[in-house]
Amino acid sequence: TTGANGGTSPHIQQLTEDMIDLTETISIKAEGRLLRENLVTRVQGILNTEWPKEAKIESFGSYASGLGTDDSDLDLVILPALPEQSQELVAPGRYQDLFILKTLFLRYSMKDVEVISGARVPILKFTDHKTGIKVDINYGQYAGLYNTRLIESYVRIDDRMRNFLYVLKAFVKSRGINSPALGSLSSYCYTLMAISYFQTLLVPVLPCLQDPHLIPHNVPNPGPYGRSTLINVAFTDPSRIRPCIPQNSMTLGELLIGFLEYYGSKFDYTKSCVSIRRGGVISRDRGSRLWTRHAFVVEDPFIPDLNVAGARQNMMNIVRHEFQAAVRALRDGRGLNAILTPKQPY
Ligand code: ATP
Ligand code: MG
Repeated sequence: TTGANGGTSPHIQQLTEDMIDLTETISIKAEGRLLRENLVTRVQGILNTEWPKEAKIESFGSYASGLGTDDSDLDLVILPALPEQSQELVAPGRYQDLFILKTLFLRYSMKDVEVISGARVPILKFTDHKTGIKVDINYGQYAGLYNTRLIESYVRIDDRMRNFLYVLKAFVKSRGINSPALGSLSSYCYTLMAISYFQTLLVPVLPCLQDPHLIPHNVPNPGPYGRSTLINVAFTDPSRIRPCIPQNSMTLGELLIGFLEYYGSKFDYTKSCVSIRRGGVISRDRGSRLWTRHAFVVEDPFIPDLNVAGARQNMMNIVRHEFQAAVRALRDGRGLNAILTPKQPY
């Protein structure tokens, strides 16, 4: 990718420019942000008037981290009236509340209201009748709030992160490999894969913000089957870290090709796990016993034993095939649009 004169070849330079333009085109605009802001206020209003228990609503996910698009969904969490530092655990019985909320939102004319209980943690889904925005609500998952803040912090460390993540999400969405409900990987999973790649480069773009020596910050978090645990969500504020020395000078185009090549052909899926908490990659022997049969492991930064990558082997083959095809297209100079041609989800 790097010419004899140390410069980047023209088509990779073009790719970098196209990545910046695409971010501009798809990133959420003031109007979309306002619609979501009002929607959060309306949902909070419904809870305040109708909900017998004190509860506060907060947003997380791409809208909250500033990485949303105009058609992003809205991820919300209901925080029970517990002080954040409380050692008390969220009572599993509160999951039942999602069913009470379902009737409530139906009364307020929300569309397609349903409780999804098959997921790792139950969620309530609905479509706002005024704006058509899709909303996911869960109960008491502090993890989502903190992983959103962690991702936001990594994005703040390096300017290239924001563009990179927008382009990566656009690519996996258009190629049909971003549908966790259909067995592929979530945006959250691709985001963690990107951070890990940036941490493990020979000259890293990102440090690891989760120093094991930090004073633990434990918060309650409901787990699967209605069980609750305390999770440690401590991480270093990026304004307090020194930049990585030497500085990585790769362009966005080089980073995109490097990422696709890394997970397309270089990453050893049988021997390694992705773990941004432990600085990028760990060997499978250091991972959870629960993961031995998993085709791909991406460790959650805060929830021990949680593999965020739920894809089976055949799906991982498809993902890798898509990545390899994209590398060929970009290396041949076919341009960013060539890897964004829409395809039905697998
Ligand atoms: P998009 O713009 O595509 O909606 P996003 O950045 O909001 O992307 P999502 O995949 O919707 O990403 O994830 C939002 C939040 O949901 C994450 O911050 C995370 O807390 C939670 N989440 C998503 N997928 C998983 C998963 N597989 N395991 C655990 N938590 C997940
Ligand atoms: Mg989302």
